Amino acid sequence: MTKGNINVSVENIFPLIKKFLYSDHEIFLRELISNATDATLKLKHLTNIGEAKVDYGNPYIEVKIDKENKKLHIIDQGIGMTGEEVEKYINQVAFSGAEEFLEKYKDTAKDSGIIGHFGLGFYSAFMVAEKVELITKSFKDSEPAVRWICDGSPEFSLEETTDKTDRGTEIILHIAEDSTEFLEESRIRELLLKYNRFMPVPIKFGTKKETLPLPEDAAEDAKPETKEVDNIINNPTPAWTKAPAELKDEDYRNFYRELYPMQFEDPLFHIHLNVDYPFNLTGILFFPKLANNLNIEKDKIQLYQNQVYVTDEVKGIVPDFLMLLRGVIDSPDIPLNVSRSYLQADGAVKKISSYITKKVGDKMASLINENREDFEKKWNDIKIVIEYGIISEEKFAEKSDKFALYPNVDGQYFLWNELEEKIKANQTDKEGNLVILYATNEHDQHSYVQAAKDKGYEVLLLDSPIVPHLIQKLETTKEKIQFARVDADHVNNLIKKDEPVISKLSETEKESLKKNVEESISDTKFAVQLEDLDSTDAPFIITQPEFMRRMKDMQATGGGGMFGMGGFPEMYNLVVNTNSELAGKILKTENTEEKTAHIKQALDLAKLSQNLLKGKDLTDFIQRSYHELAK
Ligand code: ADP
Repeated sequence: MTKGNINVSVENIFPLIKKFLYSDHEIFLRELISNATDATLKLKHLTNIGEAKVDYGNPYIEVKIDKENKKLHIIDQGIGMTGEEVEKYINQVAFSGAEEFLEKYKDTAKDSGIIGHFGLGFYSAFMVAEKVELITKSFKDSEPAVRWICDGSPEFSLEETTDKTDRGTEIILHIAEDSTEFLEESRIRELLLKYNRFMPVPIKFGTKKETLPLPEDAAEDAKPETKEVDNIINNPTPAWTKAPAELKDEDYRNFYRELYPMQFEDPLFHIHLNVDYPFNLTGILFFPKLANNLNIEKDKIQLYQNQVYVTDEVKGIVPDFLMLLRGVIDSPDIPLNVSRSYLQADGAVKKISSYITKKVGDKMASLINENREDFEKKWNDIKIVIEYGIISEEKFAEKSDKFALYPNVDGQYFLWNELEEKIKANQTDKEGNLVILYATNEHDQHSYVQAAKDKGYEVLLLDSPIVPHLIQKLETTKEKIQFARVDADHVNNLIKKDEPVISKLSETEKESLKKNVEESISDTKFAVQLEDLDSTDAPFIITQPEFMRRMKDMQATGGGGMFGMGGFPEMYNLVVNTNSELAGKILKTENTEEKTAHIKQALDLAKLSQNLLKGKDLTDFIQRSYHELAK
């Protein structure tokens, strides 16, 4: 038997390991199973290339709890180690790895970024065990098995043993007093399902009951027998590891279920990622139905490395606008031992992020080409992601004309160039700007939508919360276009054309009309604006100037406004139609009280059609109207 001291400069490494990332102690199991998997796959490789002359068979990894003796076993049938290799890999490599890691990152560990998900390898076992035993036998037949024991001090013992005759490694953790949770079957099952659900080597844990088929001659009322069989906890070949050509739509749907058992609705589409240069990445992303979704926080994209679960905090790796998607990304090329701020500046990570963006854009373009009708049906559920992408990712915005849809209030969908073609004759103003009219709520803005349609204008329905940002973006990237909400001005002024205006009133009459209205309404929210409209147009119309309203909306959905927090006042224009009969009547009315009453009633009616008459004003209006009726 050899006794020795692990060669360390930092004597207190074990207390450090124990303390390190307190909340993440559970990762020890992931680390040990990763080692077991590596050892198994290494053997497979050596057998394939003829270096190992062994029967590879169907190896598995076994996890066993021995609650009575407070032990947890992790057993593999992999490559194993010779005594010399244990010296080298466990005492030196593994140790120096852990030491180096702690030295380097103990200060940054507080930067609660992705670093918290990075393991310490073999030595993470000491986060939960007071003593670790390792019994291993190399695949090389002539080598004896060895037993290594370490109680968490830098001392260890290493001896030959006859206890193990088959190849592979068994790790026995003597679970510490403060970590007995890891002797609970439910806890271990939970961890295996979290970290190892898709690992490439089958993992045996516990048993399950299997119903045996009834024999042919069984009696009518015979009960089928059950038998305890090994329970394999993982799916070693998840969908993303397969070639897209091997998979049907149904396979993708089943995989989605497997990933998110609590999701009852099918995803809208999937995107299979697969690249091996200049970085390695596979994965499947799903577009969920976003409307009415309550699980956004819970069912997020999961990051794996070689089928080992790492985290579902993928900020920085996946572009922001795709954070609402679901699915899996698997890449060995994402550095995890770094803080989040570093991650965002990392070249490989940037490339991965832009690759994903490109793939999503390409997929959207091909989907709309394959089946436009189906894409239109799904638009409502995906628009928020696409609109967010246009706002936030230049490369995505550049491509978006191929698939971004602009629906009108009647449920017709246009691509950008189709829209331009449709409206340019009728909706180009005298400066040559194409004016695109939109409503954000077709019911609230009904009278304005109607007025615009009566003029033959196309009215889009743009109702996602980020629309103000979207149109701001479109106005700055596209030439000579301008958006205006239908209630931004009187319909005659929405698209200014060179049309002569005729006024019934003289300049002095207009001046006194304006004064009358201003004095009667005494509300600073409304700026009075006289317009020579058709005599059949409404006498009073409330509009909300596009710029102020848009800034206010933008502020409400985040994204700095120039007025700072809550800086935008509620501002409306009160358009008074000088050619209306009512305008003439107001001017002619001598009695001031009567004049004020006319103006107030007209203002209330205008407010009603903008959905602005509420509370006491509405109650008063109704009472007054009944009173008038009774007269
Ligand atoms: P890493 O896996 O990152 O190299 P570890 O500390 O987890 O670091 O392990 C150190 C080394 O010990 C491994 O590289 C491997 O050579 C050896 N090792 C660990 N576990 C096993 C195992 N179950 N079977 C065979 N070798 C192992």
